Amino acid sequence: MDKIIPETLKKVVEEISNLPGYGEKSAQRLAVNVLSMPRGEALNLIKIFMEMLEKVHPCKECGIYTEEEICPVCSDEERDRSSICVVEESFDAFAIERTRKYRGLYHVIGGRLSPLEEITAEDLNIESLIRRVEKYPVKEVILATNPTVEGEATASYIYNLLKNKGITISRIAYGLPFGAVLENADDFTLSKALEHKTPI
Ligand SMILES: [Zn+2]
Repeated sequence: MDKIIPETLKKVVEEISNLPGYGEKSAQRLAVNVLSMPRGEALNLIKIFMEMLEKVHPCKECGIYTEEEICPVCSDEERDRSSICVVEESFDAFAIERTRKYRGLYHVIGGRLSPLEEITAEDLNIESLIRRVEKYPVKEVILATNPTVEGEATASYIYNLLKNKGITISRIAYGLPFGAVLENADDFTLSKALEHKTPI
């Protein structure tokens, strides 16, 4: 039965389903969607991916994806350097930026603790956060990981590492339903969540 599936298609599905968030079914769907696109469009898509891989990388300071060495937030002199907002992924920071309610800096940890997916603290950019807090005159860290079981666990892990460093640690408030994902929240909800952040 397996012989009927073309080798390259099998390989692509296998590779995609290795990505977090993709199961076999969604990997198959993506592969088939690309295959059924007009050739020119599909090749263009791949070209855009190549360009992204060439140009986009994490900011050296905060980890936000950027085409510069230092991202526009970190290089903006007007930003409040005493505040760091910790997010799971770049798109969470982009969502918060959209609200225009936050004027501090970010730190992207690149995921969340997940025993199920075997993601431990060493896999995340947590050490670099601690280094930043120790090196710069940071007064406040806002933990804006997602309101999921894993996001909460990650926030409390970071809280424990920072609690004796003499800074204010806040958790973003959630009008967001538990289990919601930050990057999908509308601007109003996200603004409120930022406004009503509470010190832990
Ligand atoms: Zn940056």
